[in-house]
Amino acid sequence: MKEIVLASGNKGKLAEFRAMLDGYNVLSPHELNIEFDVEETGSTFYDNALIKARALFELSGLPALADDSGLCVDALGGAPGVFSARYSGGSDKDNNNKLLSELKGKTNRSAHFESCIVYYDGKEIISAVGKTYGVIADSECGCGGFGYDPLFISDDLGKTFGEATETEKNLVSHRARALAALKDELEL
Ligand code: IMP
Repeated sequence: MKEIVLASGNKGKLAEFRAMLDGYNVLSPHELNIEFDVEETGSTFYDNALIKARALFELSGLPALADDSGLCVDALGGAPGVFSARYSGGSDKDNNNKLLSELKGKTNRSAHFESCIVYYDGKEIISAVGKTYGVIADSECGCGGFGYDPLFISDDLGKTFGEATETEKNLVSHRARALAALKDELEL
C-alpha cells in the first residue's frame, strides 16, 4: 500500500483521512519520529496547506498531505479566515466571544467553513477545496466538536455543528468535502 504522511498530529483528522483514503497507508509525523511545527505565514488556505505539505515532504521524503481551514463570515469580509485559530489570541471560547461581539448589530450572519487540502510528492501538487454553508447563531449552542462549532448553524443539518454528532458533521463538513474532491483528483 502506498504510504502518505499527513501534516497533523490531530487524532480526529488522522482518523478522517484514513477512513477516506483507503488506498493509502496514512501516517502521522509522530509515527515517523518527525517533529513537525511549521509557521503558517500564507495569506490563503491554499498557501498555508502548501507550506505545510512541502515542509513535510522535505522532512519525510514521502508524499505529503496537509490541510488548512477556517471560518469565513460574509459581514466581516471573510474574517476570521486564515486567522481563525488565532482570532482573539486566546482560547476557542475567546474566539467565539470575539466573533459574537464583531457581529453585534449586523443582520447578515451568513458564513461558511472552508478547507483546502494539498498533496505534494516532490513533483506534483494536487489540491482540493471543500466548503460548507450556514449562519452564525446569537449565542453558543451545543458542546460537541471544537472551535466555532457551537456558533455555526449548518444549512445542511438545521442545527449547530456543536449540537451535531460527529457522524452528522462528517457527512457535510468542509474537510469531508475537500477530502472527497481530493480523492477524485488522486484517482484512487
Ligand atoms: P485547522 O486548519 O484545521 O487547524 O483549523 C484552523 C482553525 O479554524 C481552528 O482552530 C478553528 O478555529 C477553525 N476551524 C476549522 N475547522 C473547523 C471546524 O470544523 N469546526 C470549528 N472550527 C473550525
